[in-house]
Amino acid sequence: MTLPGSPFLARRGASLSLEQVELTDLARRFGTPLYAYSRNAMRAALAGYQRALAGRKHLICYAMKANSNLAVLQTFAQAGCGFDIVSAGELRRVLAAGASADKVVFSGVGKTRADMQAALEAGVLCFNVESQPELLLLSQVASAHGATARISLRVNPDVDARTHPYISTGLKGNKFGVAHEQALAVYRQAAELPGTEVAGIDCHIGSQITDIDPYIDAVDRLLDLVEAVEASGIPIHHVDMGGGLGITYTDETPPSAEALLGAVLARMDERGHGQREILLEPGRSLVGNAGVLLTEVLYLKPGEQKNFCIVDAAMNDLVRPAMYEAWMAIVPCELREQAAQRWDIVGPVCESGDWLGRDRDLAVRQGDVLAVLSAGAYGFAMSSNYNSRARAAEVMVDGNQVHLIRERESLTDLYALERLIP
Ligand SMILES: *Cc1c(COP(=O)(O)O)cnc(C)c1O
Repeated sequence: MTLPGSPFLARRGASLSLEQVELTDLARRFGTPLYAYSRNAMRAALAGYQRALAGRKHLICYAMKANSNLAVLQTFAQAGCGFDIVSAGELRRVLAAGASADKVVFSGVGKTRADMQAALEAGVLCFNVESQPELLLLSQVASAHGATARISLRVNPDVDARTHPYISTGLKGNKFGVAHEQALAVYRQAAELPGTEVAGIDCHIGSQITDIDPYIDAVDRLLDLVEAVEASGIPIHHVDMGGGLGITYTDETPPSAEALLGAVLARMDERGHGQREILLEPGRSLVGNAGVLLTEVLYLKPGEQKNFCIVDAAMNDLVRPAMYEAWMAIVPCELREQAAQRWDIVGPVCESGDWLGRDRDLAVRQGDVLAVLSAGAYGFAMSSNYNSRARAAEVMVDGNQVHLIRERESLTDLYALERLIP
């Protein structure tokens, strides 16, 4: 079986390595469940976007909700990347990682007054405004601070990204963005209101998108609006195409960032918008294939209808299979010379939905370490303490170096904020 995803993950003999480090060694040293990331895989993914945009006015804003560990943010900030944030907590993380707010765009349908204040004080580059009432509140908050909020309207282009319904965001029925038909009126208002200044336009049509076409449809819809808004005397400086580029979990064949951007930029050129600054908000495609989740086989439980391979990672550690029925590759860190059997890989949580993979052919024994591949995006970031399980540790591999970038939670951390009643 070939491994989907990262060239930084390879089998040498029987052993699976991430960059120069054997995964079984990581599991032994740091325990399981353990998230392990390749720093050079992240750098390489970013470099793909940077190459495609070389010579253009651009800013790549990593959509940090995919993986918000400080060391991940630091890695991207050092490589010149900005950030797409969706909360004041994410803003605090960006600043804690040593990055500056002037490369931050602030997305999200439910920004609070406190979120806006924090972002204005930090001096974010742009607010991606998702509704008219949000615009009104932002104008109030900015005026009260004697500040000016640069804004971009997130427009819902009503294009079908043909992805999972939970991660499709650019259709009329979604909660995101301002409807295309209302956008011009909202831009007019933004240009008049005190405390706001129009900077750009943006969209984000979904996630795990594996076709170029929906992006080209979105470019056309956005440029139609740019032309209409500018014709009414309001200049638009940047066009933000959002994120959403998919990765290979199994047999998906998403375009590379270069291919996607080649097509997007060609379309912008064709329509005479080649000089315009372009912003992007990639999340999954920068980190997804850079990470694995390591988990130990606790018990093998063969049954009449199903064989269960019970591992020490669960839906609280990695929720994508339970939440989106996502298929993620699961492979042994050390190959065994024995016949494979068919297993459901399940965790210890008390829910039948607690599975990581179903009907997988694996040669495993109790005590073996398995790797769930392509777990670098929406893995740790979506983890929880359900069943009072402490969250996993995270390590960053860089060549032959290993850095512990998040300690395993302790059992007392689980209730540290709780109080008994006197
Ligand atoms: C989640 C999100 C992204 C990133 O999406 P990916 O599929 O991870 O690339 C970008 N922009 C916005 C507004 C988002 O909500």
